[in-house]
Amino acid sequence: MSHIVIDPEMCKACELCVSVCPKECIEQSDTLNRYGVFPMRMKDGAECTGCTLCATMCPDAAIEVYRTEKQKTE
Ligand code: SF4
Ligand code: SF4
Repeated sequence: MSHIVIDPEMCKACELCVSVCPKECIEQSDTLNRYGVFPMRMKDGAECTGCTLCATMCPDAAIEVYRTEKQKTE
């Protein structure tokens, strides 16, 4: 399964990534960051496809996408 990593200190909680994820993989965390907002994180058990829409959309480049080899070739 692919997954994403969101840098909590780079996220401004604009929720653009949440709005574009076709698998509803992203949720808000419950820990404030340096901006004084609750940054996004990947949900437990999320079925990320590695589509990269979230990372492409993020205006702060806070998201890294890690794809599995199997999904890379699909
Ligand atoms: S890579 Fe695609 S499926 Fe995975 S969290 Fe981002 S938008 Fe969602
Ligand atoms: S698009 Fe980027 S800055 Fe906006 S909520 Fe998602 S991770 Fe945070």
